[in-house]
Amino acid sequence: MEKKLQGIKKKVIECTKCELSATRNNAVPGKGNYKSDVIFVGEAPGKNEDMKGEPFIGVAGNKLSTALESAGISRNEVYITNIVKCRPPKNRVPTAIERNTCQNYLKKEIEIINPKIICVLGNTAFNSLLDGKEIIKFRGKVVRKNNQLYFLTIHPAATIYNQKLISVLKKDIKKLFKLIQKIKEGKKVKIDIEHMP
Ligand code: SF4
Repeated sequence: MEKKLQGIKKKVIECTKCELSATRNNAVPGKGNYKSDVIFVGEAPGKNEDMKGEPFIGVAGNKLSTALESAGISRNEVYITNIVKCRPPKNRVPTAIERNTCQNYLKKEIEIINPKIICVLGNTAFNSLLDGKEIIKFRGKVVRKNNQLYFLTIHPAATIYNQKLISVLKKDIKKLFKLIQKIKEGKKVKIDIEHMP
């Protein structure tokens, strides 16, 4: 399993399939525990991530770590990745073409890790994975699509300029790990949205 993920990582690092490869410093493959119960999916790498080739290591990454810690979880326990693996110039939202071109890498990461739940961070991931809009209205909810569970929350970057949202993110992450515990114990989880294929 770890070997297969390493294979994906190598392909991402060498990838030139879309225009973002021309402006990036480093491609940013997913990182973390390949046995994780949850995969966190954000939008795209930012400046710090692009410089170091690692996901969620800037200010937004610190916000995510803080929220995880408040739920008693360390970063090393989970797997974190993005919809697109290369930084869009000036941190613009990745285009539909870029997202579609990159989507196979995420599909493979999900296939290999086979998480109990996918945590969707923010609007771009919500839109790309579930055709959703306005995640703020749906955050905290559980979606089931094609037998895969998803948990919706805001992107950690949204908490940088809005202090109120950090408590929202912390609350959601705590809820997520309680859900994971329930799933592991074989208990029934309430599905808020059934997403028909
Ligand atoms: S964003 Fe994805 S598809 Fe585009 S070059 Fe980077 S890894 Fe390849």
